[in-house]
Amino acid sequence: GLVKHFPVSRGLIRRKVIGMVRAVEGVSFEIARGETLALVGESGCGKSTTGRLVLRLMDPTAGSVRFKGEEIATLDKNALRRLRRHMQIIFQDPYASLNPRMTVGEILAEPMAVHDLHTEAERATRVRELLDVVGLLPEHARRYPHQFSGGQRQRIGIARALAVNPDLIVCDEPVSALDVSIQAQIVNLLQNLQQRFGLSYLFIAHDLAVVKHISDRVAVMYLGQLVEIAGKRDLYDRPLHPYTQALLSAIPRPDPSVRKERVLLAGDVPSPFAPPPGCRFHTRCIHAQPRCRQEQPELRDAGNGHRVACHFYETLPKPPAASTEGSL
Ligand code: SF4
Ligand code: MG
Repeated sequence: GLVKHFPVSRGLIRRKVIGMVRAVEGVSFEIARGETLALVGESGCGKSTTGRLVLRLMDPTAGSVRFKGEEIATLDKNALRRLRRHMQIIFQDPYASLNPRMTVGEILAEPMAVHDLHTEAERATRVRELLDVVGLLPEHARRYPHQFSGGQRQRIGIARALAVNPDLIVCDEPVSALDVSIQAQIVNLLQNLQQRFGLSYLFIAHDLAVVKHISDRVAVMYLGQLVEIAGKRDLYDRPLHPYTQALLSAIPRPDPSVRKERVLLAGDVPSPFAPPPGCRFHTRCIHAQPRCRQEQPELRDAGNGHRVACHFYETLPKPPAASTEGSL
């Protein structure tokens, strides 16, 4: 039931709050140990905010976050610090999140120092281990972030997240800024690390192609709300929400003999400052009906843990099935 509203203010001297951006509006999900939940949606839909709320990097306006059964939405600073090392984040732009004045060795040792883990000698050993685990070399510890390629920098970001042995990593568009040829390497690395260390991922992405292989379940977000959540197979083979269908139709197909009828998205994303009434997707939905403008659809169970928020999902025409093979 996570909610996050940001006040919007106007005026230079006496700033006056003129409204609220409803960035996250009642989002609920679970992530099991060792599982990857993908959180997918266009930019501005609230997915990064959701990731930060999960880690308590910002405080929710309302709602609850439980980590291993413990409520963290209301924990005080000290208690939160103790939990922090179990929850880490990887950012889209590793360069912006790596201190340019620190060597890679210092960058990787820092989280261990912050959490008071290991002696200095042990930390040095651990830095070498971490570099090896992410496919970098021991001598890389002496270099600076600018001496690496984008893909290598993301490996450094991943190593830094692993330094404190976390259980959960929020991956906030970790490959979006990388060349397509590098994306698959990083996704494969994340997958290997998950198996090796039993990690759980909340994997944030703006399209469904990137998360096709790494996710166990997929949650699709639109204007601050979940519109569909399902196991990967179900979501790609039987997408029920018109928005998910539209996102899937945008994935290029590896097999050109399968003719694709594109399900187009009409118009632009409306502002989260004034989200449309009723179904928030109705301004862009090709199946919208009068009821959609008035009544907000609840997330309903469509069987097999597949949940969807659409009044008419049972009676919508079937979209062409999207292949789960190929790409990445
Ligand atoms: Fe489209 Fe209506 Fe379903 Fe919303 S509730 S997705 S507008 S058909
Ligand atoms: Mg984002």
